[in-house]
Amino acid sequence: MRADIIIVGAGIAGASLAYHLSLAGHKVTLLDRQTPGSEASGGYAGLLTTVADGQAAGPYADLSRAALAATLSIIPELEERSGHTVELQSTPLIRVATNDSSLALLHAYSQKPDFMCPRSRWVEPSELHALSPELSPRLLGAIVAPEVYHLMPSRLVAATIAAAQTLGATLETHTEIVRLLRDKTRITGVIANHGEQWSAAHVIIANGVWSHDLIADLGFELALRPVRGQLAVLDSTHRFDLPFIVTLDRGYIVPKLSGKIVVGATHEDAGFEKCVTLNGMLHLSRVAAVMPRLLGLPVAETFVGLRPMSEDGMPLLGKVPGYQGVSLALGYGQHGVLLANICAALTTQDLDGNDPGPLWSPFQAVRALSPMGQEKKLAKLPHVPLSDNHVLGDAS
Ligand SMILES: Cc1cc2nc3c(=O)[nH]c(=O)nc-3n(C[C@H](O)[C@H](O)[C@H](O)COP(=O)(O)OP(=O)(O)OC[C@H]3O[C@@H](n4cnc5c(N)ncnc54)[C@H](O)[C@@H]3O)c2cc1C
Repeated sequence: MRADIIIVGAGIAGASLAYHLSLAGHKVTLLDRQTPGSEASGGYAGLLTTVADGQAAGPYADLSRAALAATLSIIPELEERSGHTVELQSTPLIRVATNDSSLALLHAYSQKPDFMCPRSRWVEPSELHALSPELSPRLLGAIVAPEVYHLMPSRLVAATIAAAQTLGATLETHTEIVRLLRDKTRITGVIANHGEQWSAAHVIIANGVWSHDLIADLGFELALRPVRGQLAVLDSTHRFDLPFIVTLDRGYIVPKLSGKIVVGATHEDAGFEKCVTLNGMLHLSRVAAVMPRLLGLPVAETFVGLRPMSEDGMPLLGKVPGYQGVSLALGYGQHGVLLANICAALTTQDLDGNDPGPLWSPFQAVRALSPMGQEKKLAKLPHVPLSDNHVLGDAS
């Protein structure tokens, strides 16, 4: 079978590529070994928060801000084309201080206007009860931000793929790609585990933490590791009214349109072991304890996913040195729901021979590639702090 462009992996990275490339007129085939969004992208929190914790300026903050604007503007288009809703919400947010060090950090933020969205404000402990009687009396203070956007990531994947399909993209599920086809240094297609072959002018490797084998085919090791994240989804219907998101140094509590409340998330170095653990649930219980009554709600569901994390925590995009016809869309780490759309738009510009500009150049995958058997290169960009909830930035 033949396509202009093959995308390996139908998480949010691959789905967004399928949409943007189809929109630009390419004949796209999207391949996944399972069903779309069945790995990290099927998660629940879906916060579209920008990076601020320690990084109000710099390439990643610029990319994140542009990502938020681009994602908010494309969602109506995706929903209209696909007929699916992504359950986008805008909710006020309270970032609470649970100990002296988080109090000092939040105080420091409140002194720096560029870390805060314009209408954020500091709240003393004595005012917290008035904000919500559910908040623990032990909290030491908080910053309140007027609104943060979030959505349902699994719905975003479904809507994005359905929208790409209306533009002619093809989706093949239960198709595990095991090798790249090549003619010397030109990649010409892929081979699936059941022997089926697809030829294409260009292959994009977007299969998250499972990309190492395909990259090894090219003679490279990629500095990318799984960071496990566990979430609990609480059934709060008729039991608990949560009109805002709560975040703290170790996690977040996010109310969803369905009436469920998401408590997240762990950040664990556990290799490829994708399982829910009691330690994970213990961590989430400590997060939920900032609103003690949450601890008694029924757990409707748990979720575990492996975040594809580069050494510096930032995306790995673009061509592979020494090869034609192949590029990478990996390493979206803890912000893939936020970043996938803009990274796909920039990749499309690059493949079409247009200069994607300054948002693109800092995130080239070459910084994480080292020839097999040689020592890894050191990341050149400053490391992004490990947390999904960089919530004090310009979400308004
Ligand atoms: C608990 C948790 C909470 C998170 N919260 C947020 C948040 O609030 N906001 C945010 O922006 N981000 C968040 N993230 C991060 C975000 O989910 C990830 O960055 C994003 O999902 C990565 O998408 P991906 O498409 O690169 O990878 P994945 O979603 O892992 O997709 C990879 C796909 O490739 C397929 N695949 C693998 N190998 C092959 C193969 N050989 N052949 C074919 N297909 C293959 C898999 O089946 C899978 O569908 C969170 C992540 C977790 C785990």
